[in-house]
Amino acid sequence: MFDIAIIGAGVEGSAIARRISRYKLKVCLIEKQDDVSCGASKANSGIVHGGYDDEPGTLKAKLCVKGNRMYDKLNKELNFGYRETGSLVIAFSDDEKRHLEELYENGLKNGVGGMKIIEGERVRQMEPYVSKDVKWALYCKDSGVCSPYEFTIALAENAVENGVDLKLENEVIGINRKEGYFEIVTNKERIECKYIINAAGAYSDKVSNMVGLNYFHIIPRKGEYVLFNKDQSYLVNSVIFQVPTEKGKGILVTTTYHGNLMIGPNAQEVSDREDVTTNEETLDYIVETARRSVKGFDMKKAITSFAGVRPTNNTKDFIIEETEVKGFINVAGIDSPGLTSSPAIAEKVVNILSNMGVKLEEKKDFNPYRKPIIVKKDEKFKGDINAEEPEKHIICRCEKVTEAEIIDALNRPVKTMSIDGIKRRTRAGMGMCQGAFCGSRVRKLIAKELDIPEEQVKQRGPGSSILPKRVNRIDVMKIKK
Ligand SMILES: Cc1cc2nc3c(=O)[nH]c(=O)nc-3n(C[C@H](O)[C@H](O)[C@H](O)COP(=O)(O)OP(=O)(O)OC[C@H]3O[C@@H](n4cnc5c(N)ncnc54)[C@H](O)[C@@H]3O)c2cc1C
Repeated sequence: MFDIAIIGAGVEGSAIARRISRYKLKVCLIEKQDDVSCGASKANSGIVHGGYDDEPGTLKAKLCVKGNRMYDKLNKELNFGYRETGSLVIAFSDDEKRHLEELYENGLKNGVGGMKIIEGERVRQMEPYVSKDVKWALYCKDSGVCSPYEFTIALAENAVENGVDLKLENEVIGINRKEGYFEIVTNKERIECKYIINAAGAYSDKVSNMVGLNYFHIIPRKGEYVLFNKDQSYLVNSVIFQVPTEKGKGILVTTTYHGNLMIGPNAQEVSDREDVTTNEETLDYIVETARRSVKGFDMKKAITSFAGVRPTNNTKDFIIEETEVKGFINVAGIDSPGLTSSPAIAEKVVNILSNMGVKLEEKKDFNPYRKPIIVKKDEKFKGDINAEEPEKHIICRCEKVTEAEIIDALNRPVKTMSIDGIKRRTRAGMGMCQGAFCGSRVRKLIAKELDIPEEQVKQRGPGSSILPKRVNRIDVMKIKK
């Protein structure tokens, strides 16, 4: 019998698990994928928002500002990669300046500090490559960028280190309400627990329905991006937004935590919650809109496109509450700024649990620290693709990822066996060649380290081995001969 079962290991479920792992409670984190951070928490802008554009009084407004202020300390503890960059919302006309003033007022009401409205000339001093047509901007000092999947992985690793039982490849398919407890039915097992926290992202309405709660629904909203090579990052120092629209914060131009230029996202309602395809028309729109902010990026330096699906709900605010089903808490429909808010959401959930009578007794041996996987290399670093020592042996040339880093990633508390899992933890395959050079080397290393045949190494998730395709190609070549 677990005290608490958390359903969904995105950033919300993982932040909650890590926050609760400091108490003497038996906790499990249940995830249907083969790794944590496989939903919205994997594919988003990675912006730690200042909190000026959420409607005052909403949970979004309160938790975004609070969450933002928790990042610095969290990064010191968990080493996931966070940098305060500041942000600019740019305006091209006096009419748009009025929006900036509204945002500024909103920000003050929400308790955001470090904001000011600045003139175009000052904007161009800060951002020399921003469009000459920019007349005004709202500057917010407190915004930043983080690596969202590394953050989620770090939270989950630290939660497991502190005793949380992570159950991967466990899809919740039903929940039975029993006398004073729940029985969660997954594709693999039956799990008994006293409390359930539903953090199932785009499926949080479906999980809520499993206990008979139908009071909200998810409207999946896709956002697409284009990612550029690091040599384009000279174009932007901070995060550059345009004036927001009804649908959200609009197309931004930023440099990611690891130094790639990134543009996007749009906001398109989709019927399929798994729809992470990108399409040419949308990417054209994103490129065209981003060029209004910063003209100079080179499309020949685009590395890849990707998309994420926001778990937007129909109430226009986060749903974080004890429900009428005793013991069942919804942390549901958490769209933007859910990444920023996640540490504050976790704290709110602890308060809810406390109000519900859960005894929160601190563990003496709680360890808040987690070492980074990616080691920043200085200019003196002499790696080599043929080096003997794992610390010097380069596996991924583009991102200078060493064998030692990949071995470290494979031996962490959250086990990954897939090439994509290694990519998210080490950046092997994230560079210009997108894994063309290192993909097979990573696969070999995973097989060797885990002592499994190469064909058992997956690209991502069950049934995604990439080896059969290679075998087919070889067969075809043989036929031609
Ligand atoms: C395009 C885009 C841009 C964004 N930009 C930002 C930003 O810049 N800053 C910001 O603060 N926020 C941003 N967000 C919002 C942020 O990404 C989300 O709020 C956050 O990731 C939601 O986390 P989650 O844990 O609720 O959902 P998810 O990450 O989707 O996690 C839910 C998990 O539940 C699992 N699950 C679902 N059903 C089941 C089941 N039946 N059994 C077991 N497991 C299940 C899923 O596999 C998934 O891993 C953005 C979102 C998107 C999509």
